[in-house]
Amino acid sequence: MKKKTQLIHGGVFGDKHTGAVSTPIYQVSTYKQDGVGNFAYEYSRTGNPTREALEKLIADLEGGHRGFAFGSGMAAIAAVMNMYKAGDHIVFTDDVYGGSYRLMTKVLNRFNLDVTFVDTSNPAKVDEVIQDNTVAIYVETPTNPLLKVTDIAEMKKLADEYSLHLIVDNTFSTPYFQNPIEQGADIVLHSATKYLGGHSDVVAGLAVVNSEQLGEELHFVQNSVGGILGPQDSWLLIRGIKTLGLRMEQTEKNTAKIVEFLESREDVSKIYYPGQPSHPGHETHKKQASGFGGMISFDVGSGERAEHVLAQTRYFTLAESLGAVESLISLPAKMTHASIPADRRAELGITDGLIRVSIGIEDADDLIEDLKQALDSK
Ligand SMILES: *Cc1c(COP(=O)(O)O)cnc(C)c1O
Repeated sequence: MKKKTQLIHGGVFGDKHTGAVSTPIYQVSTYKQDGVGNFAYEYSRTGNPTREALEKLIADLEGGHRGFAFGSGMAAIAAVMNMYKAGDHIVFTDDVYGGSYRLMTKVLNRFNLDVTFVDTSNPAKVDEVIQDNTVAIYVETPTNPLLKVTDIAEMKKLADEYSLHLIVDNTFSTPYFQNPIEQGADIVLHSATKYLGGHSDVVAGLAVVNSEQLGEELHFVQNSVGGILGPQDSWLLIRGIKTLGLRMEQTEKNTAKIVEFLESREDVSKIYYPGQPSHPGHETHKKQASGFGGMISFDVGSGERAEHVLAQTRYFTLAESLGAVESLISLPAKMTHASIPADRRAELGITDGLIRVSIGIEDADDLIEDLKQALDSK
């Protein structure tokens, strides 16, 4: 089955009880048992048919063994971390999503889950920081907001050499463009709030594992800790995913045009987009993904100028988040990445003048016109 067909027919198609072509919202907490212990579903934290349809769909789309849906991307990441124990050590991509950094350094550190942040775009650096107690490598590629690319197959080699799990946050590329399990990942994570939902109307997280054992372990955590996604939001995600292919293709077309426009501007000093042949991760990304996505970061020189540009755009909405039908614009240093200390931000290259845009599916000409008037205004 090709990707666009799988988006519609993957997982569970419709409802076997009624023939409804859309999976119904099973708004229910508990289920009547045909005698003690004789049931298909027991309690909705443990399993719910609408959530299960979504979980089977994401497992199919990622080519994995089993999928799980959580109340947010962070809940999905936290559940995966709950599979490990005090004293374990995990190697992380250095410029991960701010919330993932916060989870590891301000919450899970209390439980002695140890982490090292390193530039995973350089496998030698990852090799250097692996310790006796390392249990996993956690990668985001491309990263947020600098769009740094990590070679998933190289990480897999290291994971095999040291018997580690390879975990990939695939939020930016989506399963339409990149399938980390095919490159050897054991666990794939998504903030489904972004492209998978795609309409800025649901907060959700997904995880896919590539083995029965990991499936049982993660289901145990999901059921024990309880951060599940409700049936209504599960349904919204299934609906969003149906158009993922169309949206990603349109987004990418728009993005290419906007990158070209930004390249023509002398007042834009740096542009980060893996689709540019000059981007250091361009070749690696091309090898492991079939599209470059719709996220661009660029530097306008100072925080003051960046805030001015953000105040002037009309179609680019000033907001956190990304990956929806409407274009969004943000200032990572003061918004999504404010929880990362200033000195670390500087180290990573997240300057005060760095603007991040998430390109939507509006007409590219209108988007370019909007950026042009914002950049031109004094
Ligand atoms: C947004 C995001 C998250 C967190 O997801 P939520 O749904 O906001 O909890 C994790 N990773 C990446 C790459 C993200 O963009």
